[in-house]
Parts: sequence; C-alpha cells; structure tokens
Amino acid sequence: MFNLNTLLRPHILTLTPYSSARDEYTGKQGVFLDANENPFGSTLDEATLDGTVLEDNFNRYPDPHQQAIKQRLAPIKGVRPTQIFIGNGSDEPIDLLVRATCVPGQDSILIVPPTYGMYEVSAAINDVALIKVPLTPDFQLDVPAVLAAIQPRTKLLFVCSPNNPTGNLINQNDILTLLDRFPGLVVVDEAYIDFAKTQSFTALLDQYPNLVVLQTFSKAWGLAALRSGMCFASEALIQVLDKIKPPYNISGPTQQLLVQALKNVAGKDQMVAHILAQREQLIRNLLNLPLVRHVYPSDANFVLVRFDDPKAVFDYLIGQQIIVRDRHRVKLCEGCLRITVGTESENEQLLAILTAYANQVPTTV
Ligand code: PMP
Repeated sequence: MFNLNTLLRPHILTLTPYSSARDEYTGKQGVFLDANENPFGSTLDEATLDGTVLEDNFNRYPDPHQQAIKQRLAPIKGVRPTQIFIGNGSDEPIDLLVRATCVPGQDSILIVPPTYGMYEVSAAINDVALIKVPLTPDFQLDVPAVLAAIQPRTKLLFVCSPNNPTGNLINQNDILTLLDRFPGLVVVDEAYIDFAKTQSFTALLDQYPNLVVLQTFSKAWGLAALRSGMCFASEALIQVLDKIKPPYNISGPTQQLLVQALKNVAGKDQMVAHILAQREQLIRNLLNLPLVRHVYPSDANFVLVRFDDPKAVFDYLIGQQIIVRDRHRVKLCEGCLRITVGTESENEQLLAILTAYANQVPTTV
C-alpha cells in the first residue's frame, strides 16, 4: 500500500535538480576551471587542528554526495551507502522530508507529544497541518488513537525513540504496527540510540520502504558543532532528498572531520560507556535528594526529573550558572526539568547546588 510516487509532492517527483560542477567530473586530478573557485588557495591554507594538518583544499567545493563519509559509515551502520543521506544536522532531513511530501495548506504530519520540537516547527515553517496524538502517561504510543487520527492526507508520522524530552525507548512492536498500518512515511528519530541497549530500526530498512531512520553526530559522537546528521531510508527516498538538498550542504572541513571521527568508533563507545555510568550515578544521587519527586528511567544521555516547584529550582540553578532545560509547561511533563548527563564534576556541581537550594543557603561551588 506504500507508494513513494503518490506520497511525494507532484512537482518534486518531476523536479530537475541543480547539476553542480562537481557532478560533471568526479576525478580528483585535473585543471578545474568549472566552478569559479579561487585557484590560488585560501587564507586558511595549512590550517591545523590540534596538530593535524587539514587537507588544504578549502578553495574547492566539496563532494556534494559525501561519498567518503558514506563509504565509512555504511559498514558501521549495516546499511548500503545508497541508503544514507547526510544532512546539516538531522534537523535538515526533518525539514526536507516535510518539504518533499507535504503540500502546504493541504497535507499533514502526525506527532506524538511530548516529543522533539523541530517536527512541529518544520511543519509550521512549511504551512503544513499538525496532528497531535499525546503519548500515554507512561510515555508510550497510544496506537489505536494514532491509527484513528491518521487522515488521507497525512504524509509523515514522527516517532522519537529514545524520546526527547522523556528519555524512554518507544515500544518496538508499536512502531512496527505503525509501519504495517500507516501508508505514509514513519520517521523513527534515533538521535539518542547509542545510549540505549537496543537495536536500531536501520536493520529493517529493506523490509519497510516506508521507514526512515534519523540519527545524529551531535550526541554520542560528540560533534554537535559540526552540524551533521544521518538519515537512513530506501534508495528511492534518499535519491529524492539528494535532489532537493542544497548542492553542497556538508562543508569540506566537516567532511574531512567526519571521516576522521568515523575511524574511532571505539572512542565513541568509550564515551558512551562513561556517560551511561555517570547517568546511573546521577539518577541514584538525584533520588537521594528530598526535593526530587521523581526521576524517569532513561535510555538517553539526559534524565527527566520532577520537582514540586520546577520553576524555582530552574531559576536557582541558572543563578548559579547551571543550565538545564525547563520542560514543566510541556503536557505530561508537568513539574519536570530535563537534565543532560555531564561529566562527574559537572554532575557533582549540580547536586551540590540542588542540595544548597533545598537548604536555601547560598553556595560557593
Ligand atoms: N532529534 C532529536 C530527538 C533531538 O533531540 C535533536 C537535537 N536536540 C535532533 C534531532 C537534532 O539534532 P542535530 O540537528 O544536531 O542532528
């Protein structure tokens, strides 16, 4: 019942994409007089980053298809390079998916709040209607309600797992039910998947042409500053995203740095292990504080914590230069602050200041 051609906006289906200079000739050697670049180099030549000399080709446009990254990433993720789209953050594919499929003023997307805010913002930017079906009080999908809310013109359904801001994994069988029953695209946002002890939905890409999986370099990989995200989907859908993205959406230095980073999967895994150990310690310590009402279980690198007076706690923390995310006005997250797991020392500072708040004595920590 899934048909990509009827899901896409008609003009996207027939769009002739921009043909970039780098598409016409892919060899590395040659006299490049095709892209109006500066042949002499740049003021950055021989730039170094912590002693590593970056390739001095800043004057040249980068590979629009990021082949070097995809070649390295594919075996790590167990997918084919042609099933990968690299975006300027995973926020970029979120927006491209909305733009590729939803006719403004006519089509809709479905989200399951509380969840990541950019799905709603992307819908709003594109004048696309939003259908909201709240999660259950234990932050799981209300599958019958989701199925009942789907309309003929609902094109995308976003499920974030582990979910932001609640931190929990969404029941896999429920997502499978939606993949089976929803004729549009089911976008599973796995920004926090490295922190969860579960398999990625990427394993099911060949089985479900309507599955899209988002991941990011901003969390476990520690590369938020690079603004790079991954989108995994059928080859046909990846080709559509490639058609509508800005031609050189990933900068040359970013591509170089991502290739380097992908050589060190063990380093990423080690950081994840540290963060998970810190998460468990943070949860234990938070639960010992009388002012903490509840700490929700977490499969991510943050915890959702309920307080009696979240606004006062939030303001006090800010006053002490501890910045957490205030979610207390979010439905189902009443009373809650979202706290990222920091280093041991950062977590200790947080706990010391929460203790000081409880005692209402100013602290010097
Ligand atoms: N998805 C989720 C669930 C997120 O929490 C975030 C960032 N906080 C993103 C996507 C976007 O990440 P980025 O654009 O940095 O890849």
